[in-house]
Parts: sequence; C-alpha cells; structure tokens
Amino acid sequence: MIKGIGASNGIAIGKAIVLPSWEWNLPDKFVDVSDLAYEFEKLYEGVETSKSELETIKQDISQLIGEEESHIFNAHLAILEDPIFINEVRDIMQRQFKAAEVAVKETIDKFVGMFDLLDDDYMKERAADIRDVGNRLLKHLLGYWDDEIPVQEEPYILVARELSPSQWAHIDPAKVLGVVTLMGGTNSHSAIMARAMGMPLVIGLEGKQDEPIATGDTIIMDGSDGSVYVNPDEETIERYGRRKKEWLAHLELLQGLAHVEPLTTDGKKVRLKANISAIKDLDPAFQCGADGVGLFRTEFLYMDRSTFPSEEEQLEVYREAAQRLGPGRSIVIRTLDVGGDKNIDYIPFPEEDNPFLGYRAIRISLDRTELFKAQLRAILRASHYGNVKLMYPMISSLQELRQANALLEEAKKELEEEGHPFDRKLPVGIMVEVPAAAAIADLLARETDFFSIGTNDLVQYLLAVDRMNEQVAHLYEPYHPAVLRMVKHTAEAAQRAGIPVSVCGEMAGDPLALPIWLALGVTELSMSVKLLLPLKARLLASSSKDSAELMNRLLACSDSQEIRSLLEQAAGGLLGGTGQIQE
Ligand code: PEP
Ligand code: MG
Repeated sequence: MIKGIGASNGIAIGKAIVLPSWEWNLPDKFVDVSDLAYEFEKLYEGVETSKSELETIKQDISQLIGEEESHIFNAHLAILEDPIFINEVRDIMQRQFKAAEVAVKETIDKFVGMFDLLDDDYMKERAADIRDVGNRLLKHLLGYWDDEIPVQEEPYILVARELSPSQWAHIDPAKVLGVVTLMGGTNSHSAIMARAMGMPLVIGLEGKQDEPIATGDTIIMDGSDGSVYVNPDEETIERYGRRKKEWLAHLELLQGLAHVEPLTTDGKKVRLKANISAIKDLDPAFQCGADGVGLFRTEFLYMDRSTFPSEEEQLEVYREAAQRLGPGRSIVIRTLDVGGDKNIDYIPFPEEDNPFLGYRAIRISLDRTELFKAQLRAILRASHYGNVKLMYPMISSLQELRQANALLEEAKKELEEEGHPFDRKLPVGIMVEVPAAAAIADLLARETDFFSIGTNDLVQYLLAVDRMNEQVAHLYEPYHPAVLRMVKHTAEAAQRAGIPVSVCGEMAGDPLALPIWLALGVTELSMSVKLLLPLKARLLASSSKDSAELMNRLLACSDSQEIRSLLEQAAGGLLGGTGQIQE
C-alpha cells in the first residue's frame, strides 16, 4: 500500500491509465532581427487566443461545476496579463533573438523553478499555475498539444504527475472513476475541482512508490485516507469492494436526510436554503431538501447577452421561481450585483484601479435608476405569485438604503396606478457585506426587514484581501477574529431590533462554521446546493447549547489558527480534513 493524501472522499477500483509526464522539449531556435516583429506578433496573438480560451473554460466550469471553482482560471488570466511574465519573454526575445516559443518555455522554467524551490504549498500551487498557463500559450505558439485526457469506453483511474485545471475541465466523470496525482496539496486546484465534482482524489504520491504505476495496473484508491493499492490481492479487492458499497450507502444516507427536519440535538430549527443563479438550479435544490431560496443572484440574467433584460423578461423568470417554491417557502431576490469581477458588456464600466471598491452593485442601481426601477417592478409583480422577498446588495450607508427604498416606493405607486397586483408588504432586506454596514447594523436594522450576512464580501472588505486575487488567497481567512466580532455585532444588532438575520456567503455552508451561527441565534443559512446535505448532517448532530459555550472560547482566541483548531476539535470525528463527512 502507498500512503498519499486523501483530498476528495470516495473509493475507486479499476485499471490505471497513466498520463505521460509530458514536457515540451524545445531546442533553441534563433531568429533574424528582421523576423523579430513577426515573432512578437505571434506571441501577442498566442496570448490573446489563450485568454479567450480561458474565458470560455471559465464559463463552462461555472456552469458545469460552480462559479467559485471557475475563479481558479482568474489566476491564469492574471499571469498572462502580468507584465513581469510577458516582459521576461520579451527580454529573452529581444536580447537573445530567440523564437517566441523558446522564450516562453525559458520563462516558464525560470519562474516554476523559483517557486518550486520554496517549501510552501501556496508557492508550489503558483508554480503549477504558471506551468499550466505557460503550456497553454505554448500550444498556441506551436500549434499542437499533447496532454489530453484519454477517451475510452471502459471507466478507468487516471494517474498523472499533476493535472492542470484545464485538464480537469476535460474529465468526464462517467469515464474517470478516480484520480491519483504525484503532486498537489489539499487546497490545490485539483483538490477543489475534485471535491466540486465528487471525484475521489489521492494526491502527493511523489517519492512514496517503489515502482511507478503503469497503465493497465489494477488500482484501489481511497480518497478519504489517501491509501492506494497497486495490483492488490483478491482479499484486498473484496474488502475495498465492501467499503465502496458502504461509502455509496453513506451518500445515500445523506440523500435520505433531504426531507428530515433540520433540528439541532436540543431542538433548535435552522432553515437551510439554497443560493441559486438561475431557474435550472431549483430542482437540484429541492432534491436536496432546500427550504426555499435564501439568495437569488439575479446578475446572471443580465450576463451573456447584449442588452438589458426587459421588465417583462425578468418578470417571467422571477414569477416562475416564485410559483415553484411550494407552500411555506420563500425566495429572496437580490437586485443586480455586477461590477467588481462580474462585468456586463453593455454597461460601460469605467476603467477602475480598484473595481471591487468602485462602481458596483447598489451603486450602479442608484446611478442607473431606470434600470433599477425595471428590476424592482419585475420583482414586485412577481411577489403576487409567491412568497418573494427583496434584498439590496452592498449597502454601506443608511442613505443608500433610503434612496433604494424611495425608488421602490415610486415603483409601487406606478404599479398601483397601472393596476398590476403585487404584495404590498413585500419584505425588504439588505446584504450585510461591507464592514460599514456591519458597524452601523443597529441603524440599518431600524429601517429594514431582515439582514443577510454576505461573508464572501465581508471577509474581503474587512481584511482588505481581494477575494479573486490568488496571490493573496492565503490571507483570505474567514476564521479571522475580526470576522467573528463583526458577525457577532451584526447578529446582536438584528436581534435587538427584532429582525431576522441569515447568512448567505460560503461560510453558511461550511460545516466548520456552524457552531458560530448556532451560537449567534442565526435561524437561516443559505448555501450552494451541493453543501446542503453535508451541512444538514452536521446540524443534526450539533447542539446550540454546546455551540454557545464554544463561541465564548472562540471569542477569546487571538488568531485564526486557534479558532480553526477549536472548531476542528468540536467537529471531532464528524468531519475530515477536507470538510467532508467521513465514512
Ligand atoms: C457574499 O458576498 O457573501 C455573497 C453571498 O454575495 P456574492 O458572493 O454574490 O458577492
Ligand atoms: Mg457579495
């Protein structure tokens, strides 16, 4: 048995296909001075083609796996736009008269070598990014590519030195039973992609095997404890066959929780809701027992088109969502939240040095009031067909909330005059995702019907760490003591004002964070659909009383490491290192 690192749970048994460790082997190629201009043109064209290819992959991954996973490709786009990378290539071409592809290869090798030397998982990941994006660029410069995922009839276990995000994008889960890589860390791209796809993954086999795995070997791999068996005996195959069955039964058990009431062991109910961005997300959400929709990100209705969706077009979508909820369930429709990383071609966004601090979300709505009104009217009209709530993103002052509400009043008046029915008591809430809003939560709570804490942005703004910037990803720490204090302050302000508070950022679905929400008396958590069942399993085994005690200890911690380890301890045997439920 070889012991690697279990990075995504699940057991796979099958024949290995080993991807050749593929390296571009380029002999030096020099060009005449007169050909340099052509080489540069080739380089820039290659960069542009690579960028548009990455944008397409990003979109595909966003649709197939999840928006968050698609952000992995932002790091690749950033490398292609990084002047340090491109200037290095240009320098080699200009000074040594080398062909574009040779200069790119030398640049990749130089940077990868530099990062690889450091004994730091984060830096090794950056090396992998550079290699991946560099290889993509080389493919376009040379016109060929040779590390595609094998296509074959029989399902197999894929073994590789490491898999790039681009390769993950081509994995067919119906054909690949599991993946084993020699490199990688538990927070690597491979681990994130595998977990999102539900693909068993063992990583980190480098230097641990006496003989390399060969294509055709029979492999058993266990993604929860990292064990890999090569050509095992019958008894081991049978044993793992049984464990695999148990694992599948565990998944079925999770599925069986879909309609179990979400109560803690001491009887506190927490409504578990889904974050959606399109109507197509509703069915999977209900299959996982979602108790309504806590966040409808409407911006996706505005994307991939060339004009604004009209009021009628929006109404159609919101009405369908409202009608499909079923009794006792509600949907929170958030108004347009673009800007930052989500741009729409037909809104002329200004060139901004700091788009996340710029023309974004409610700021755009309050500037382009005709567009905002059309959306408000559509949401109001949909409220006639189901239990709809309205929510404004990125509120940072009372004035913004009042301005938005004034426009809402105008929209209501117009609809009344036109004779359109709508819910006159439509609840209106705000996202608490800017530290300013959290700081004045008491003032905002007086003029709003509910709060939803958006931890994704709250963490980014509170810690001054761009949530899209891979370079500072290690500083993006949801378990920072400052975050704990901010959410506590917000929840307490809501409770004093007697309004409900929910959470809809990624932390809502992180089983590790659950005691925090239980202790704060949060009664609604809204999350990506795939997180609903594992979170429910954790909820059913948690007590709000224990959580309150734990919270006191968490608040006394002075750094995130301490907080994390207390939360991990509390999760005990329930959770694996990957935040997934163990067998
Ligand atoms: C958030 O910021 O936590 C949130 C849920 O909104 P989004 O991720 O769409 O910015
Ligand atoms: Mg947000």
